[in-house]
Amino acid sequence: MLGNPSSAAALQCDLLIRNALLLDGSGRPGWYADLAAQAGTIVAIGDLAGVDLQSATVVDATGLVLAPGFIDVHTHDDLEVLRNPQMLAKLSQGVTTVITGNCGISAAPVSLRAEVPDPMNLLGQSTDFCYPHFADYAAAVDAIQPAVNVAALVGHTALRASILDRLDRAATPGEIDQMRQTLEQALLQGALGLSSGLAYHNAAAAPVEELLALAAPLCAAGAIYTTHLRTEFDGILDALTEAADLGLKLNVPVVVSHLKCAGVLNWGRSAEILDFFAARRKQQQFSCDCYPYSASSSTLDLAQVTADFAIMITWSEPEPASAGRLLADIAADWQCSLLEAATRLMPAGAVYHGMHEADVQQFLQAPYSMIGSDGLPCDPLPHPRLWGAFPRVLGHYCRDLKLFELAEAIHKMTGLSAENFNLTGRGLLREGYQADLVLFDPSTIRDNATFTHPVAAAAGISAVWVNGVLSYQQGAATGQRAGRFLARQPARNSVIKHPNSNPDKEAQA
Ligand SMILES: [Zn+2]
Repeated sequence: MLGNPSSAAALQCDLLIRNALLLDGSGRPGWYADLAAQAGTIVAIGDLAGVDLQSATVVDATGLVLAPGFIDVHTHDDLEVLRNPQMLAKLSQGVTTVITGNCGISAAPVSLRAEVPDPMNLLGQSTDFCYPHFADYAAAVDAIQPAVNVAALVGHTALRASILDRLDRAATPGEIDQMRQTLEQALLQGALGLSSGLAYHNAAAAPVEELLALAAPLCAAGAIYTTHLRTEFDGILDALTEAADLGLKLNVPVVVSHLKCAGVLNWGRSAEILDFFAARRKQQQFSCDCYPYSASSSTLDLAQVTADFAIMITWSEPEPASAGRLLADIAADWQCSLLEAATRLMPAGAVYHGMHEADVQQFLQAPYSMIGSDGLPCDPLPHPRLWGAFPRVLGHYCRDLKLFELAEAIHKMTGLSAENFNLTGRGLLREGYQADLVLFDPSTIRDNATFTHPVAAAAGISAVWVNGVLSYQQGAATGQRAGRFLARQPARNSVIKHPNSNPDKEAQA
């Protein structure tokens, strides 16, 4: 099961990490061991003392935890990985892979017919959308080589914006055909699957029939469907049913994005929602991601303006001085209603403190929930999840509040994520797996990003290796960028096992 020292003696290795507490991403309890890697691949795990491993970089990890690099399954880093390939916001948390294209918005394949539609403006400006084919985007990632690995979904809204003349209506059968062909081509070029953002007005007019017809090729490709539900407010059960039924009809795994109970009338319903998940998980692959905060963030949406909870403006095109202020204070200054103030601020970004902490904790504790940051890299005053999501789970929720064991917390950001998104050879510490690694101090790891000072690296991350390359150490990027574009692997039932891969079955969630 573990590396055998006698066989490791014959191995070359360029990295040797000694005496770490290994949490291997499977959810099993940690154990003390050494790990050796060569040319970006883990080659031995076990007691490697006395083994002749010359010319290795040796790291003494006494007192530290070694885990697989974290996989951020919910990002809007599509263009950020090209714009700022150092990716410090993620690397500094121990993230080694980002999944882009969530919530219906993606950088590719896109040929915009008009201005950048909301919320694609979260990703970048119109000139940034220059990847009409998914392969163009994959090639751009590989050419720039960001510091983290990148895998990408194709956004439903992105397809609509490329093919429909207006987005406030359903697509015609001909337009659905065009979107489906574009999606099929992207799947052939390595896209992980399709995402939707049905809560946003530029996708809300799409009936479920449009999604069903569009998503039809996912099953044969072994691809997945992720969805920002049609509503996360009072109608959430209907929206969950719509998403789950689509997965069942098309035989496609479904990931519900940033699961939450939004709005005060919805608070306290997490148990009911988890019951729904439990029932559906007996019939189909149905999981979710979530971020560890009771506030959400996106573009400012008039439909979400309320006096029930605080709304902070993070940016506003016509009123840039409003950034960082509460909508209620702005409205008071302007002597107008919240809605009038919001209308005047648009286009704008906002943080909505619209969740109940108890629900957030319930969703984080669900054994099948993955961690995704949902960070917004273009926001000048980003929600702190951009820089803090993963350390916050490990420090605040795991160590301080004891919501779950550390092994389970790691599983939710590594092995479980790689399993659900079919990222072969990543997410676990196994011989033959890629050496995406994070070394951290479990007693000091902590998120430092706050709502008022959101751009702050976490404490407690000692070192991060991406594909075996030391990329972050003691609070700073090393300047080496070793990320790769990760194309979708063959359909699960036709996966050909890597000859070095460990046959151990991953722990079931
Ligand atoms: Zn979303």
